[in-house]
Amino acid sequence: MVLIPALLGAVLFSDVAQRVVFLTLTGVSLWLFCRTLNQRLFSHFPKPWNIPTGPVGKRLWRIFVEVALQSRVVRDRPVAGIFHALVVWGFAAFAWVSLRHLSLGIRGLEHADNAPGFYGVFAAVWAIAVLLGMIALSFRRFVLRPKALGALSATSGLVAILISLLMVTYLLGWKTFPVPSTAWKINWWVHTLSFLALLVVIPRSKHLHLVLAPFAVFFRPETTSRVRALREDGEDLGLVRFKELSWKDVLDVNACVECGRCTEFCPANQIGGSLSPKEIILDMQRGLLHGGDVIAGTSAEKDAGSVCIQEQDLFQCLSCGACEYVCPVGIEHVGRKILDLRRGLVSEGRVSNDKVVTLFTTMERAPHNPWGITQDTRKKFIEGKQFPIFDGKQEWLFWLGCGLNFDPHGQDVAFAMKRILDSASLSWGVLSRESCCGEPARRGGNEYLYLQLAEELTKTLAQNGVKKIVSCCPHCTTMLDKDYRQINSYAALGIRVVHHSELIEGLLPKLRLEPSPGSVTYHDPCYLARGRGITQAPRQILHSCGVSVTETRHHGQNTFCCGAGGAQLFITDDRREQSAERVNQKRFSQIAETGASTVAVACPYCPIMLRDAAVHAKRDDIAILDLAEIVASRLKKGSGNGKPETIA
Ligand code: SF4
Ligand code: SF4
Repeated sequence: MVLIPALLGAVLFSDVAQRVVFLTLTGVSLWLFCRTLNQRLFSHFPKPWNIPTGPVGKRLWRIFVEVALQSRVVRDRPVAGIFHALVVWGFAAFAWVSLRHLSLGIRGLEHADNAPGFYGVFAAVWAIAVLLGMIALSFRRFVLRPKALGALSATSGLVAILISLLMVTYLLGWKTFPVPSTAWKINWWVHTLSFLALLVVIPRSKHLHLVLAPFAVFFRPETTSRVRALREDGEDLGLVRFKELSWKDVLDVNACVECGRCTEFCPANQIGGSLSPKEIILDMQRGLLHGGDVIAGTSAEKDAGSVCIQEQDLFQCLSCGACEYVCPVGIEHVGRKILDLRRGLVSEGRVSNDKVVTLFTTMERAPHNPWGITQDTRKKFIEGKQFPIFDGKQEWLFWLGCGLNFDPHGQDVAFAMKRILDSASLSWGVLSRESCCGEPARRGGNEYLYLQLAEELTKTLAQNGVKKIVSCCPHCTTMLDKDYRQINSYAALGIRVVHHSELIEGLLPKLRLEPSPGSVTYHDPCYLARGRGITQAPRQILHSCGVSVTETRHHGQNTFCCGAGGAQLFITDDRREQSAERVNQKRFSQIAETGASTVAVACPYCPIMLRDAAVHAKRDDIAILDLAEIVASRLKKGSGNGKPETIA
């Protein structure tokens, strides 16, 4: 019992004892920090790491904007975000204080002095700001308890106490206690022990994001929902086991701050689905920590504890990328986890969802499209509308895709686009036969089928000498401009691929437009806004047509999915059978809220979903028009060669 007071006395009054204890505790804390970091990260990192290459300057700028300036954190939750930013900025402002403080532990407390004038005041102001931030964030977490944050965590409470102690002891040491009185020394030790305790707690908790977030943000791609290329060793069939996780995945699942933004913004979750992107990441984190083997399987396997994630959740995903867009620490939930896990399940023949299997069976059979509609239907359409056939002499291949080939509204869009291309005097043509590019197959997880379709199409494009492709479908555009480029034979063709909004925006000076007033709300397709980063071109086009845009609550990159992506358009929705709310209905009600009588779209999937919702809501007074139809309706007479379109 006398040992503790003796030890306390020694560290307070003997410089040697103080240094020995300080160095021992610091060494132990650092060792625990490194050991836990090694357990959580490096013991799982595969070799080689295959560090992604890319514009380093741009990525560093992203770290500055998103991590240092806290732009994402503040953007999506302004109030909580500002308080979080105060804590982060306060920590940065405190760096020199902490270094000076710790250096005293080595130099000896007799060298203590007050923090230098200006910097002392500066740090004190930030200490108060951090305290304010901690009080507000703790109130939110422990009193308000928003659902997105999940269950209460003792570690969060401990970290809040330790950070607050750091600030309070700084303020006390700065002005209250004479230097180096006994009270000052006790205060110094409380500050030091709080700091060292944080060092131990951080890598064992979600606060590891303090260390990992800059790296995860640095390595995140510019746009959302990117599917990785399989390794070429023939053994990579998609993500199946924990040991196959890439180093970026290991980084991701350990960087999660458990804020719940991804789940809060997930449309599939918002309609009551069981998919929670946050839980997908945390399940993977738990699996990694506890030596899990297979990652995903059936619900029964999950209940039995042999897998961490149930297939049912994976196949609810729309690949809309909302989760990645809002994640403040750069986690990639979609292409690298959810879709890759689907791919693993499909490759191993472990999918029990009949609707997914039916989609693949339909696409495997000629004429290789997700609706199984014959080539004759397409032939009649393109011949009836006199679409020129691409023969290698034209500049542009107009890729119709399944939506424009077979959906009646899609065919109207194709015809409107024909008028625009003719009006701009572009030389163009369509393929005489088109199969699906394989988008629903790849997003659904059937890599083998996708590769078969991609190989066929690559041959056709090469034979026809295609150099430029325009598509009205953001899904096809993504496939041809991103996914296909992972295939060497396609990449070698060097084809330029654009979405029609990009092409039309460039053609505006050439088009003989007769702007006429109109008003629409514009629904940003996920694959265009988040997947390609295009939000301004469609608005610029509408503006040039004389059409004003009333924005929905969710617009631009913060758009809300129509419910079609991730192959969902082709997988009959169980929720329709259960007459529960569906994603398209939720989106339609956001659109209807604007009061607009026309909704402009830029994807053939969206009108199919929105029409369905309009019928359900008995709102046939809201017209749904593609950008191409609106532009074609403003072409001067004799410009293009079809009937004029009308919009409200
Ligand atoms: S991509 Fe969309 S649907 Fe899928 S998990 Fe993310 S937010 Fe949810
Ligand atoms: S994955 Fe990102 S958005 Fe989701 S809970 Fe974790 S940190 Fe938050």
